[in-house]
Amino acid sequence: MAMELRNFSKDGLWLKGNLHSHSTASDGDLSPEMMVRSFAERGYDFISVTDHNYYHDYSDLKIDNFILIPGFELSGSLNEKPVHLNFIQKGKHSPFESGTHFKMSSSEETDEFCRKHKDDYLIILNHPNWSLLEFPDIANIDYFTGVEVYNWGTVLGENMGESTHFWESGLRRGWKWKAIASDDNHHGYVEQEGWPFNCWYIDAYGGWICVRTEERSQEAIIKAIENGSFYASSGPEIYDFYVKDNYAYISCSPVDRIIIKGEYRNIRRAIGPGITEAKIELRGNKEFVRAECIDSNGKVAWTNPIYLV
Ligand SMILES: [Zn+2]
Ligand SMILES: [Zn+2]
Repeated sequence: MAMELRNFSKDGLWLKGNLHSHSTASDGDLSPEMMVRSFAERGYDFISVTDHNYYHDYSDLKIDNFILIPGFELSGSLNEKPVHLNFIQKGKHSPFESGTHFKMSSSEETDEFCRKHKDDYLIILNHPNWSLLEFPDIANIDYFTGVEVYNWGTVLGENMGESTHFWESGLRRGWKWKAIASDDNHHGYVEQEGWPFNCWYIDAYGGWICVRTEERSQEAIIKAIENGSFYASSGPEIYDFYVKDNYAYISCSPVDRIIIKGEYRNIRRAIGPGITEAKIELRGNKEFVRAECIDSNGKVAWTNPIYLV
């Protein structure tokens, strides 16, 4: 393996975004405009407003250098188990009228809806652990682009928002699912001092993805997600990650552990405290190599797999 393999291009922009958010258009506590602006003001580059079972075109809500990707969160069921699925729009045009409500009444209807719209939308399995799913419930589904490995809202509220094991099980099964971290923010808990932005207990700004793109556009962001040219994070930043000559190379913000994983127990690590780069010899990885960077607060950044074959 003399070739350098990488998901992130060497040059380009890093764009930070939240693919899962709620507003007063469903059960969130902030208006769509106020909610979206709060992310722009925090330095995010893009957001998808994914209200429950409701599609709305917010393209009139223009903010400089900030990208709104249309989407919605569908409640349905698959294999008779309740699921929440995020639909993230790939292109400019939607088959749905702004203001459309959705209602799924069976697993067959949900599955049919997904198959019908999978070319126009990325479909992400949201918070499988919080949804009380087990891996066999979704092991045969072939249209997921990604799985929420981290859903900050349900980490905060119920400590049930961590679903890395679903993703790993899917990777071992051969699915090329991407790892998504998001907020699922509702900006609730209004009784707190400092609400909505300066209170400590807030289900926003705690899980995101950073995509590596050539340009600042919806099209480039979608392409990067589809290609795995991004990382998911609840804290650390990753600056580079590649594989060359049986070594994995990574650079990141200061973390205590960098763990390199693959399809089996071929796990290796570099430990800190406060390390910002590592060169780690691979341990017989045949199919893929990925990394998790964990900081001193236990916050994690996940790369997507680099495929070796
Ligand atoms: Zn949900
Ligand atoms: Zn949600």
